[in-house]
Amino acid sequence: MSRPPPAGLRLGLDLGSTAAKAVLIDAGGAILATRLDASGRPPDEVVADLLRGLPDGAGTAAVAATGYGRSLVGCAERKITEITCHARGVGKLHPDARSILDIGGQDAKAIRLGRDGGVEDFAMNDRCAAGTGRFLEMAARRYGLEVAGLSEFCGHSPVQGSKGAPWEISSTCVVFAESELIGLNARGTPPIEALRAVHRSIARRVSLLLKQVGAAEPLYFTGGVAQNAALAAAIGAECGMAIRVAERPQFTGALGAALSA
Ligand code: ADP
Repeated sequence: MSRPPPAGLRLGLDLGSTAAKAVLIDAGGAILATRLDASGRPPDEVVADLLRGLPDGAGTAAVAATGYGRSLVGCAERKITEITCHARGVGKLHPDARSILDIGGQDAKAIRLGRDGGVEDFAMNDRCAAGTGRFLEMAARRYGLEVAGLSEFCGHSPVQGSKGAPWEISSTCVVFAESELIGLNARGTPPIEALRAVHRSIARRVSLLLKQVGAAEPLYFTGGVAQNAALAAAIGAECGMAIRVAERPQFTGALGAALSA
């Protein structure tokens, strides 16, 4: 006979533009399981796939949803903004955090936290893909690489500050930035230099967001793109702050939702 699921389970679902994430926690807030799947399909299908990959008890959990597709998650009792969820998730894993930089597939956010962990200010770029994971995906594809391999290809701390660098990408729109990349290629720029320029260009854009909110240290980097160590180094060089990659950086939003469920 199977045992009944433990009481007080909570499930956070983060339906992002690129990836859907789930975090299951126990009554004390400890992480029991995580799950990641591609989004871009009907939300109910995405949620059913996430649930199938989680332990049986997940079906009995209280559910909260966040992310771009949160309003479409029928099983969620609560729908909470990504800003709030990232603040809660990071606050749980890193109670010393004073700021958060989140870069996902299609947007970037800078969040300044108060001493109590609450959100004091935030700024967001969701209009243009040039400072987001989408730009890195496009650039990686162009050179026959996976995004997960970009950092290693560039060398982990490749990226000096932008001043005086010989190759630059200055467009603030991903379509024009791609044309610039094609131009660099045509001039015979070595792929490693072109890709370093891509990293510097994203670093410049997100540093402006950090400045806008008056980001303070310790600053934690979240979102799928935070797994790119070369980008973390580039952002650190550009904004002059130490960039700490959050624990489980792609799951902090879902964790924040779970904590709110
Ligand atoms: P969203 O919530 O908008 O769907 P995520 O925070 O889940 O975004 O991040 C998705 C982005 O993370 C994608 O652009 C993807 O290319 C990038 N990404 C995923 N895994 C890695 C990795 N191992 N290294 C670098 N980037 C990654």
